[in-house]
Amino acid sequence: MADMKITAIETYPVRIALKPDYQMITSLGVHDVSNYLLVRVLTDNGFEGVGEATVSEKWSGETVVGAKWLIENVLAPQVVGCDPSDIEEVDRRMDAVCRHNWFAKSSIEMACWDLQGKSVGKPVYELLGGACRSLSIRCRYSMGAYTPERARERAVQLVEQGFETIKVKVGTQPEIDLRRVRAVREAIGRDRHLMIDANCGWDVETAIRCINDLEDCNLWLVEQPTPDGDYEGLARVRRETRPPVMADDICFDMAHLVNLIRHESCDLISLYPGKNGGIRKAKAMAEFAARHGVACSIGSNLEYDIATAAMCHMVVATSNMKIEEYPGDILGPSYHVSSVVTNPIAIEGPVTTITNAPGLGVEVDWDRVARLA
Ligand SMILES: [Mg+2]
Repeated sequence: MADMKITAIETYPVRIALKPDYQMITSLGVHDVSNYLLVRVLTDNGFEGVGEATVSEKWSGETVVGAKWLIENVLAPQVVGCDPSDIEEVDRRMDAVCRHNWFAKSSIEMACWDLQGKSVGKPVYELLGGACRSLSIRCRYSMGAYTPERARERAVQLVEQGFETIKVKVGTQPEIDLRRVRAVREAIGRDRHLMIDANCGWDVETAIRCINDLEDCNLWLVEQPTPDGDYEGLARVRRETRPPVMADDICFDMAHLVNLIRHESCDLISLYPGKNGGIRKAKAMAEFAARHGVACSIGSNLEYDIATAAMCHMVVATSNMKIEEYPGDILGPSYHVSSVVTNPIAIEGPVTTITNAPGLGVEVDWDRVARLA
């Protein structure tokens, strides 16, 4: 391949409502509109790469306005002139001028993978070492912290749609959390998997009490019960309760991952490109976890089509993303009222499927994006 240089990075904010049935409620509050910053990376040979910063001020601390400013003023000046096929150099340049801001950096990084794939005519999963599983990924459903009655009704619908694993958000008021989880267990029967995600919303004592109180519900997995930064507290929950513990909102980068392993805090880790600063970094973290005997799966910030594609390619090419045993949620586009791509990712019930098209395999309708901006 002839050399290729990044010539410009354009940014486009979009704001897309969730479908009413898909409204998300967590310990952090209500999420009924998603804010995304879409990026378009242009090169001197005419290829264009697409990326997405799935920002959420409550979850990651990043915002559309902040990500846009950072990309335009700090990150783009570093990577313009860079070869987008040299992902390590792109990362090195971004990390040299900016800490954290994982989702903003990942938007540029995934666009570079998209460019590299388009320029050599290969899907991103091939560039990552090849597919180690099917291009069709079976997902769990992530349900908001609804009233017990609403949760019960929604769970019945999800079973009808074919979901075998249901995640219920908790971390609000413990007594309502317990009633919600019991209502869902009753609705889905004994044979489907039921897991909970507190998004850091419980303290250690509350987590241990609630998880043990729910023993009759046969919880299959408990995700991020306790606050960010408390590796020992998470380890204590793991020791003093039965279900496997998954770390999520505590693990953005390699330093966090090392702490989780050092403290034996968890059985599983949720990883994904946006949260972990890019596809390359997320894959490297999954491989590091594998060397320490910790399995990984994939979580979500309700990504739109572009970042959803990035998640799928990373999962397909990374053996330690153990989605067969521990399904993740890669369903973000299906939560939203509309799309900005001309070839949306196929999502049918619990199954998300990517193609072998070059790059990330999604084509953005930039006219539509401009109208939404
Ligand atoms: Mg989570």
